[in-house]
Amino acid sequence: MEFDYFSRNGRLLPTAEAVVPLSNIEYQYGFGVYETVRVSDGVPYFLPDHIERLLGSAQEIRLEHTFTAESVSRSIKELIEKNEAKTCNLKILLIGGRTANDAQLDILCLNPLFPDKKLYRDGCTCVTVEYERALPHAKTLNMLRSYLAHRTAREAGAYDALLIDRAGRIVEGTRTNFFCMKERTLYSPSERDILLGVTRKIVLRVAAEHGFEVVERDIRMRDLAQYDAAFLTSTSTKIMPIRSIDAHAFGPQPAALKELMTAFDAFVAASGGTL
Ligand code: PLP
Repeated sequence: MEFDYFSRNGRLLPTAEAVVPLSNIEYQYGFGVYETVRVSDGVPYFLPDHIERLLGSAQEIRLEHTFTAESVSRSIKELIEKNEAKTCNLKILLIGGRTANDAQLDILCLNPLFPDKKLYRDGCTCVTVEYERALPHAKTLNMLRSYLAHRTAREAGAYDALLIDRAGRIVEGTRTNFFCMKERTLYSPSERDILLGVTRKIVLRVAAEHGFEVVERDIRMRDLAQYDAAFLTSTSTKIMPIRSIDAHAFGPQPAALKELMTAFDAFVAASGGTL
């Protein structure tokens, strides 16, 4: 679908005008933060959580601006309505400036790419790359190493690259959160070291409601054999089972993981996009 409009600083403008000023040093140096929000049936899903993280990311890199949760939310809703968008991904970009008044908020509607259904059935493959993001809680435009790691994964036919930190721990994917699972316990890398994903937050809630335990712990490649399964989460990915990480292959998908995936889908469908 074509989306005719985008939003810049709360103004609806033709998409043809969504251009980047090359002379602007904040664009050149990537001084910005971003979010991706799923829109389904015209509803931006889990919007308050995404806006809270956007504003939190900006604060973390000391990006000053004049936008509020209310103004961002209003711009998003006006854009969805103007584009008559039913299904899309919203890309929200907040770019800094010399002063708070120079900051720029761009919101675009993009056509989503849905993962192949077979991957949910059979699990995806992942490769590992040594890299740790500088500011784990902030979703910033400092994406070069993540981009290269993801490209390496795609060239290897894998879904994502898992990032290994300097202590040898698997921390997160380039655009996904990572969990391992044994029986009815989920194991997550420490919240200190990862992006606090909105999908991950929903998974934690669904897991608690369905009697799963959640434990934070270091997970290294050599530990993988002790787990029944592993999976990724993100806005575009939902819960994606992992079939293999480098040379380590997991066994058949356990019933508990299928149960969690079904419970997650049911929760999201029933939520109407609000947590
Ligand atoms: N981890 C990283 C590093 C990410 O970039 C993302 C999303 O882009 C996620 C996890 C998943 O976050 P969410 O579930 O909010 O989409």
